[in-house]
Amino acid sequence: MFKLRWMDPLLVKLRRIELFRVRIPFHEPFRISSGSVSEKESIVIRVQSRKFEGFGEASPMGGTFYSPETPDTTWQALVEDIVPRLLKLRNVRLQDLDRILAQTPGEPFAKAGLEGACWDLVANRDQMPLYELLGGSKRPLPSGVALGIYPSIETLLERVEQFVAQGYQRVKIKIEPGWDVEPVRAIRRAFDRLPLMVDANAAYSLSQAQVFEELDQCNLMMIEQPLAKDALAEHAELQRRIRTPICLDESAESIAALEEIIRLGSARILNIKVQRAGGLMTARKMHDRCRQARLPCWLGTMPELGIASAQGLHLATLDNFTYPTDVEASSRWFVDDLVDPPIKVDPHGLIHIPDGPGMGYKVSREKIARYCSWKQAIDA
Ligand code: MG
Repeated sequence: MFKLRWMDPLLVKLRRIELFRVRIPFHEPFRISSGSVSEKESIVIRVQSRKFEGFGEASPMGGTFYSPETPDTTWQALVEDIVPRLLKLRNVRLQDLDRILAQTPGEPFAKAGLEGACWDLVANRDQMPLYELLGGSKRPLPSGVALGIYPSIETLLERVEQFVAQGYQRVKIKIEPGWDVEPVRAIRRAFDRLPLMVDANAAYSLSQAQVFEELDQCNLMMIEQPLAKDALAEHAELQRRIRTPICLDESAESIAALEEIIRLGSARILNIKVQRAGGLMTARKMHDRCRQARLPCWLGTMPELGIASAQGLHLATLDNFTYPTDVEASSRWFVDDLVDPPIKVDPHGLIHIPDGPGMGYKVSREKIARYCSWKQAIDA
């Protein structure tokens, strides 16, 4: 188990927690196998001690096409249960926070947002970059672009060209039955050496394995979540039939699920999402377990706005995050972002995170006010 690098293990007493419901439109709708979204809804969380503050973000997708949690259910869990309970506690040790939050079943997004705000507060207080507090070391982080399902292959190829020109280090395309082998072959014809992967978001069953046997000939980096979330034995069976590594995303929802994935050999790569794991601490534990099992991983995203993205990037400095992250430039998805500077990808496809303190990106109170539709403050 890793040790936190800070000297004072006490988290100062929290006095006030503010919640902001924000909405920022997407440049273009994002369609995956199970639905479509056109704006980012998020809950910004500000925690306050007597002298310091920290920001976090709870970022479930709108609608229920990715997980049963939505912005409404997450807001309710925060206001009615998790926030009042946390405010009642005296000094809480940061490394105990995931276990305290675990007393509430489920609600990974609410927990991730609140825990992220507490990590940020402690890093601000100790004048330390968040990556150092998490045990990482600063390095440029390669970024990959994720492309949704488009109406035509022509449009898809235009998008691939556009983002490759911007420097992104790999391209991932979403697939579904009827939109799989053909678009992949079209990209391969146009970009024969491009680092390319596909994400099915659990849209197939093992009886459709032929699709993956055909994709196995396309020199892909990995095939992400081909089968249903709970189909771990079937994923292991599929992995035995193809050489391309299977990467699990939706299936990797807890440490217990990860243990089962490792035991069965259901994947060779893992996509770790802080929001799905329920916070930075659990995500960090999953990373450590993967390293021990020689399972390389990478940091995924919902996508989230800048606050949660920045915190994820600090975590992604840990050494077993060996593949490019799904975190992209703020301007890739959103017409605006809440952090200053926005997250940027350089012409070589790299993200350079600031030195902190905390996440090192300033959160704009003015922009929170501009995009906020509802807010609530709860005092200790
Ligand atoms: Mg995925």
